[in-house]
Amino acid sequence: MLELKNISKDYKVGNGTFRALNDVSLKFRKGEFVAILGHSGCGKTTTLNIIGGLDRYTEGDLIINGTSTESFTERDWDAYRNNSVGFVFQSYNLINHLTVLDNVELGLTLSGVNKTERRARAIEVLTKVGLEGHLYKKPTLLSGGEMQRVAIARALVNNPDIMLADEPTGALDSKTAREILTLIKEISKDKLVIMVTHEAKYAEEYASRTIQLLDGEIIEDDDEYHGSEDETGYVANKTAMSFLMALKLSFNNLRTKKFRTTITALASSIGIIGVGLVLSISNGFSGILDDLESDQLVGLPIMITEGEAMFMGPPGLAEMNEGPTANEENEIVVNDPDDYTHVNIITTDFVDYLDLMDSSFYTTIQYNYGYQPQLLIEVDGVSKTINNRDINFSSYITPEDELDEYYELLIGDFPSNPYEVTLLVKDGNIVDIDVIETLGFDPDSTITYDDIIGLNLYVARNNDYYLESNDLFIPQFAHLDTVLANGIELTITGIVQMIDETISIGGDNGIYYLYSLEEELIKLNTASDICVAQSATNISVLNGETLTDDQLFNTLSYLGCNDTIPRMINIYSDSVDNKTEIKDYIALYNTNLLDDDQIIELDLAETIGDTMGTIISMISIVLSAFASISLVVSSVMIGIIIYISVLERTKEIGIIRSLGGRKKDISRVFNAESIIIGAFAGVLGVTITFLLTFPINILAANYEETLTGVAQVNVLHLLALVVISTVLTFIGGYIPSRMAAKKNPVEALRVE
Ligand code: ADP
Repeated sequence: MLELKNISKDYKVGNGTFRALNDVSLKFRKGEFVAILGHSGCGKTTTLNIIGGLDRYTEGDLIINGTSTESFTERDWDAYRNNSVGFVFQSYNLINHLTVLDNVELGLTLSGVNKTERRARAIEVLTKVGLEGHLYKKPTLLSGGEMQRVAIARALVNNPDIMLADEPTGALDSKTAREILTLIKEISKDKLVIMVTHEAKYAEEYASRTIQLLDGEIIEDDDEYHGSEDETGYVANKTAMSFLMALKLSFNNLRTKKFRTTITALASSIGIIGVGLVLSISNGFSGILDDLESDQLVGLPIMITEGEAMFMGPPGLAEMNEGPTANEENEIVVNDPDDYTHVNIITTDFVDYLDLMDSSFYTTIQYNYGYQPQLLIEVDGVSKTINNRDINFSSYITPEDELDEYYELLIGDFPSNPYEVTLLVKDGNIVDIDVIETLGFDPDSTITYDDIIGLNLYVARNNDYYLESNDLFIPQFAHLDTVLANGIELTITGIVQMIDETISIGGDNGIYYLYSLEEELIKLNTASDICVAQSATNISVLNGETLTDDQLFNTLSYLGCNDTIPRMINIYSDSVDNKTEIKDYIALYNTNLLDDDQIIELDLAETIGDTMGTIISMISIVLSAFASISLVVSSVMIGIIIYISVLERTKEIGIIRSLGGRKKDISRVFNAESIIIGAFAGVLGVTITFLLTFPINILAANYEETLTGVAQVNVLHLLALVVISTVLTFIGGYIPSRMAAKKNPVEALRVE
């Protein structure tokens, strides 16, 4: 059934070769118990390894059941070792981190036998060798004889035709040795057993045939066999280890090194924690921003301003938003903002369109007509005009009944009618010198709240202030006392401060009035002489110059005569959804209009949110990039750990290969190991990340209330991180596991 035909084996030694076997021809039959004898170094193990397919012959042929092995592939040899040969070694070669039962099952696993049958057959052979009481022990707890029995059981479990034993009794006392030899002899009844030994007495006593080797040649064969058996040719089932088994082998191995595995996983989880925290904080921030937009910023109006709409445009205008193309040579590039900015022209059409908007979308619409009232003040008995800009005379940008949501009252009352105004101070009661001086105070003196409350300002009536003379209207600077005395009195009733200056618009200090003041004043003005006169001509009634349409419109607005076309529209709404409805409604207005006629609104809340969102994403990207470096470091580390593991488990590699494991199976075992570490590190990392979000949130909330819930994990991110960790460590462990697969099985087995 097995024939060695003129086999020679050369080993490479230095530059030359060493011939370990020289022209060996042998025939074996079933039921033989062959002992190969000879002194150390004569080539016994080499012969056995060649017969067992662990090593390749250099010349000659090995014939199995009449089939030449000359054209055997690596896989054929693996299958042959697994199906047809069982090895027993002097040093047992058991895998110490697997139980007795698992050790025996290993060979069956490689040939793809299912679990139940595997278990049954392993228990059956273990019972046969007398080890039924030790199934679940680790081999290290057994005696030498018992370990050799396990090895024999493992060699037999696949029911091979050939059992090869290399000095099986070499490490045993003579009593145990005899027990083992008796067992082997029993086995040889229906198998071919070839045993290498250097003890002639055992050979004589137990073997049915003895072959003597000397320096790689046969010098004696006491039962040479020349006949031929019924040789039907040889086909072996291909082997393959399941990935699950690879996982189990690695898992058990890692379990014996719990401390090292945990430290490794912990170290490589640091990168995961870093990235995880950055992601959850950026996630939490986005949440806070959304809340901000819907809670606090929702009060900011959608603004439609006449003139340049600089912030954003509809998709059709996007390409226009690029500035001029730079010239790097010596040519001057002309910059014309009209080329790339949109100018809103508010028309009565648009105002009419807005009037038709579903009133449930908004809470208030404010129209601003660009009136600059002429203000006066009496300081030390003298009436003076005021430059509106010096006191920042502006209307509140909030609905009139929601002032208290955005402003904190420091003293006095919020305005209850259009003729009551307030002084807005910056945080810490800070007010610009222009405001103070204009209100008539000495900036070096001490000014208290009480000094300001009750102060009066006066709006000049057009008919008092502008008097006609030769078709021109002349401001009555010489009669300011009269103008002031007849003026409309405004009283400062309170001092206020922005609640949150960071989201303020129009949050500068100065005198702030209710939107309805302008409405009231314009009502009074439209009938004034100057308005009537200016409305009737395009010649300026102030200086006699001819005005363009734009200039005329500006003059009318400035004088408070314009009550038809607003210069600015503020639309207030109570939810982000409604704001979207409003924007959609405006977009609908634009659909069939030329670009120039379109109206582009500004949603400050969205702009602020977007800007902050962009900043946060940028910061997150930078931080994640830093954290990712540690991910790379950890995958290199895993590579090193796997490399060490390969060195440590060289013997195991040899054992698996001797049982018919393919190179692929070996790399699977180590890949499985890195996958386990990677997944473990990933799970550890995301768990720690999740746990860390609690203290971070508590600290953040203590530091700044708006930061409550700043760290929020996203389950998808966490899952992705586990996958990334697994993939990275797999990559890190890939090269060492390939190295493991390439190891020569004979050399691997020799490692202690
Ligand atoms: P035995 O089992 O009879 O003690 P071996 O079969 O192990 O002898 O070795 C036969 C000869 O081949 C020895 O001289 C040994 O040094 C040599 N040899 C074995 N393996 C190798 C190898 N991989 N490289 C070089 N020489 C080897």
